[in-house]
Amino acid sequence: MPQFMDVVFYVCAVYLTVAVAVATRLGWYMVTRLDHFDWLHSKPEIWGMFVFATLLWPLVLIKPMALIKPADLFSGPYGMAARMREEELLRQYPPPCGQTVRYRQSPGRNVETFGEFTFNSADLEKALVAKLQEHPHLADDHEGAILNWLRQRNDSIKTPTDVPDAWHRFQFIADDELRAGRGKSFCLKCNDQIPGIGLREEDDHGIPGWNFDRLLCQQGHPLLVVESVHISVRQLST
Ligand SMILES: [Zn+2]
Repeated sequence: MPQFMDVVFYVCAVYLTVAVAVATRLGWYMVTRLDHFDWLHSKPEIWGMFVFATLLWPLVLIKPMALIKPADLFSGPYGMAARMREEELLRQYPPPCGQTVRYRQSPGRNVETFGEFTFNSADLEKALVAKLQEHPHLADDHEGAILNWLRQRNDSIKTPTDVPDAWHRFQFIADDELRAGRGKSFCLKCNDQIPGIGLREEDDHGIPGWNFDRLLCQQGHPLLVVESVHISVRQLST
């Protein structure tokens, strides 16, 4: 019996020793590598992962790389901290912007789109100034950062510069501009330029759930699809 108790003691001692080592490693990483974006957007997940990995370290050690490079353990839900970090970097250090900008909608929860658009940067700047006067709170969102990007443009750059993917709210700006008759549209499915009056509008109205505004080419390919409004429908019990 004493021998059995010795085994239990040594197993517990080894388990606790490794747990302390794992906690030390993760704690060091949390203190030295995680920044304020991580703590702002993923704080509960960070502490949850720390407790989980410390108590149940054998599950973590199935993939030892997780301890060597713990970044994935602390990436948080939907990579929110990484997205916010990228947006802040874009705001502080915007990439070069030329006379025209090119936009391709990122894949989202909407249907796949096939539009590629180019806009005159000066037109966009004018439109955004008007939009921010009407909705000042957007100055802190992508719209404010995009306006700053457009304002520091270099008109000697003649080749179109791409709108960074991280500024996904550019889709609303593009939608407004195209419906106002500004910008050039190209359908990647038809492999053809679309004349200014050639865009078809197909918008949802009053559908329960998300409603979308769509711009299509003449062949019906979706070029730009943006969320317009979400309608909640309460299920009435009968
Ligand atoms: Zn098409």
